Amino acid sequence: VIVPGSPLDGIQLVLADLDGVVYRGKDAIPYAVESINRTHEDLPVGYITNNASRTPETVAAQLAGYGLRVTPDDVVTSPQAAMVLLEELVEPGATILVVGGEGLVIAVEGAGFVVTRSAEDAPAAVVQGFSPDVGWKDLAEAAFALHSGIPWVATNQDWTLPLERGTAPGNGTLVSAVHTAVGRLPVVAGKPETPIFVAAKERFSAERALMIGDRLDTDILGANRAGIASLLVLTGIDQAKQVLAAEEDLRPHFIVDDLRQLHEPYPEIGVSLEESTGARLVHVGDAVVRLQGNVVSVDRLGSRLDRLRAGCIAVWGSGVKIFGLDVAPELYS
Ligand SMILES: [Mg+2]
Repeated sequence: VIVPGSPLDGIQLVLADLDGVVYRGKDAIPYAVESINRTHEDLPVGYITNNASRTPETVAAQLAGYGLRVTPDDVVTSPQAAMVLLEELVEPGATILVVGGEGLVIAVEGAGFVVTRSAEDAPAAVVQGFSPDVGWKDLAEAAFALHSGIPWVATNQDWTLPLERGTAPGNGTLVSAVHTAVGRLPVVAGKPETPIFVAAKERFSAERALMIGDRLDTDILGANRAGIASLLVLTGIDQAKQVLAAEEDLRPHFIVDDLRQLHEPYPEIGVSLEESTGARLVHVGDAVVRLQGNVVSVDRLGSRLDRLRAGCIAVWGSGVKIFGLDVAPELYS
């Protein structure tokens, strides 16, 4: 049962990012599995991943391992979104030069294209996704093929790959190597570009979706670009400081501490003008945040989360960039 006034109210489809939303490292994030399963009793849930090296089956098996009720059809990958783009760019059954791993090869073959690894086969397009096995020879084949001017589709543009041993080059970095060699840029399928969201909405035949993510520059930006409501959960990368400072297209509709709050009424936001001082007061729950001139201060603490929500409304509505404001540390520390 969807709780009236909750972030799920009026929503037909929930889309969830994985890392930082469902799991972190090898462990499930507290409350995520129960809350998503509860959501799934009323709504379809799609899992959105930019990772091009894993198949939907592999991802679904991992998620099921945490206790989520999920099938491979619930997983929307950047290679699948790349196929939507390819179908617009080349003839059915065309030969495609693939730079990437098994997940991408399966998607390309599944879309009815012929896979090649060599520019000698006169491919109609290049599609590039991450695999740890991609090497110089693969990038060189892509460059040879791209000099003829054929379309180039990248599954995603993630610069880095967070691994247990540290930060490694991601697909965006490998794409960038080819870009430097050929002097042009690919079209991109994954977050924060819109094709992956379009593919998800089509898959589930839903219009009003809610994207749940932990990163402003991929999940939230992509949802905003795709015209999808967005919810930032503070269990992953971005925290209070980042969301307070977010530029307009990176701002989420909802901010929650954990996914239990999918099933709680989202507090009303009240904005009022204080006649005597000209200050703007933002009320969320018991928190009151004051914007006066370029100073953002706290009149009443309320809960940490309501204070952050109110602080965001005050900062975002100020019309001033974050570095031009004096923001009370109670809002972000
Ligand atoms: Mg994430």
